[in-house]
Amino acid sequence: MARLCVFCGSGHGREPAHGVAARELGQLLAERGIGLVYGGAHRGLMGVVADAVLQGGGEVIGVIPQLLVEREIAHPGLTQQIVVQSMHERKAQMAAHADAFAALPGGFGTLDELMEIITWRQLGLHDKPIGLLDVNGYFAGLQTFIAHMVNAGFVAAVEAARIEFAPDPNGLLDRLFT
Ligand code: AMP
Repeated sequence: MARLCVFCGSGHGREPAHGVAARELGQLLAERGIGLVYGGAHRGLMGVVADAVLQGGGEVIGVIPQLLVEREIAHPGLTQQIVVQSMHERKAQMAAHADAFAALPGGFGTLDELMEIITWRQLGLHDKPIGLLDVNGYFAGLQTFIAHMVNAGFVAAVEAARIEFAPDPNGLLDRLFT
């Protein structure tokens, strides 16, 4: 089974559109028979995506560090919940279980996970597709900054070009799973 690793906010954000897009992505994953791998929490957009996949009859694997089981509220109804000992182990396990990666709106945690998986690809540690769900232009500033890093000579244009940006979940999945 193909699996998508989703990085997203442990909060809901202010715009209802973010929750709508997260739910739609979860529904589409279930419909397309693509499994979800994510941080295992029941909070925020993380919980929204997971619940939507489960409601659609899909498979969800969570990877949560022991220290966050209470703080982020470990989701009790997943297909599989893997409890690990560190944040680093969480990212490694999520990456190992996934065939592609998507970032949805989120905060520093989301950015940390996204940047690590981009840099791992840049270093040749994996070669899996990576995309951003750019709900209402949430990632426009990041896209501009990536172009700035390319222009300044710190990021290879070819690496930047490989990062997919899509405004809607259906388009994102089409790009990540061709
Ligand atoms: P946020 O985008 O800040 O709401 O965080 C989204 C998710 O990223 C949460 O499950 C955080 O626990 C997780 N996260 C934050 N920092 C890290 C990190 N350094 N390594 C792995 N996961 C992290």
